[in-house]
Amino acid sequence: MKFAFLCKERTRSSGAKVAVVGAGPAGLAATGYLVCRGHEVDVYDKLPLPGGMMTFAIPKYRIPLDAVMEGVEDLQKNFGVKFYLSTKVVCGERHDEGDELARNNVDLTKLVEGYNAVLIATGTWRSRRLGVPGEDAENVVSALEFLLKLNLGRLGLLEGKLWSFRRVVVVGGGLSAIDAAEESLLSGAQEVYLVYRRTIKEAPAGEYEIDRLIRLGVRWIELAAPKSIVVENGRARAVEFQRMKLGEPDETGRPRPVPIPGSEFTLEADLVIAAIGEIPTPPLAPNCGDLVKYVGKDGRVLVDRGYRIPGTNIFAAGDVVTGPSKIGQATKQGLEAAREIDRLLSAKILVTAR
Ligand SMILES: Cc1cc2nc3c(=O)[nH]c(=O)nc-3n(C[C@H](O)[C@H](O)[C@H](O)COP(=O)(O)OP(=O)(O)OC[C@H]3O[C@@H](n4cnc5c(N)ncnc54)[C@H](O)[C@@H]3O)c2cc1C
Repeated sequence: MKFAFLCKERTRSSGAKVAVVGAGPAGLAATGYLVCRGHEVDVYDKLPLPGGMMTFAIPKYRIPLDAVMEGVEDLQKNFGVKFYLSTKVVCGERHDEGDELARNNVDLTKLVEGYNAVLIATGTWRSRRLGVPGEDAENVVSALEFLLKLNLGRLGLLEGKLWSFRRVVVVGGGLSAIDAAEESLLSGAQEVYLVYRRTIKEAPAGEYEIDRLIRLGVRWIELAAPKSIVVENGRARAVEFQRMKLGEPDETGRPRPVPIPGSEFTLEADLVIAAIGEIPTPPLAPNCGDLVKYVGKDGRVLVDRGYRIPGTNIFAAGDVVTGPSKIGQATKQGLEAAREIDRLLSAKILVTAR
């Protein structure tokens, strides 16, 4: 992966400094663009390796780690990009998934003062909760937590033990659910259930992916939603589900799942994985001050058409702006935001670095 694809090496210096917060595809693409335009870039990430979801969530058979690291090495060696890893950028207090891996905190306001521009590209590092009794049991985890720990373990970076499991129940019908189910199987689970509240036709992962998993041995159950987790001694022992039927379309245009009374059934499990979506996590917590007004109800950063928080030298791009999307979309946003930052730097509009 070549993030600095516009040039081979840094040939000139503009004298401007940009901080990129988040080393996922949006942040790395922006970094590549900015260094080719002669700007100095420092990248901050709370995790111990760059790459974001590409390194810690997406299975390696889809995005090889070596490809990501080659692109990162190119940025470091040929363009002098500094990576401050295991470093969480904060404004106010909030705990997101993966925060326990950060060894240092840096205040966003310090970056705003110390750089001409700051690009927030922090993605979606908090998972939606099931909202059913029992989900706080120790062996009920989010897909993100499961995949993150699995990858940390493979990279030799995991402190503590990974769960042991034979029967896994995954709840959800998107890409995270697919990856969690497949990785469970590849990690030695003997039975893996993938349970979705609508039908295969409505599942965001698509029929092709689900059929592929069924062929691998995953048991697909549609039209069922969790009602409670059966907990014994602090651990989930089973999940109680209720059967659904499809009703009128909801606000997304998809048929609403409607519970069928008296249709409950249980599935035993020694690991329950909730894979029902992720939420944007900008470093702008509720007690961050005035900037909070630029965080929408769904957690997304509200930027103008130039990816800028109006009246500031802060920009945002990628999934933290759009909500969960795809690598291509996040990369495109990172490039567009970088182009806008470069335009304003060239026009000497962003001159606040001290
Ligand atoms: C399980 C799963 C599978 C997927 N599979 C695919 C796929 O096959 N194909 C595809 O195109 N897309 C896939 N996606 C979606 C894709 O991964 C994302 O759309 C993309 O990674 C978003 O890029 P990003 O740069 O916006 O955010 P991310 O990749 O999430 O990167 C954000 C970075 O910011 C860092 N960060 C967060 N908060 C802070 C903070 N406060 N301070 C410092 N650093 C911080 C994080 O550590 C992370 O490194 C998948 C997503 C998931 C969850």
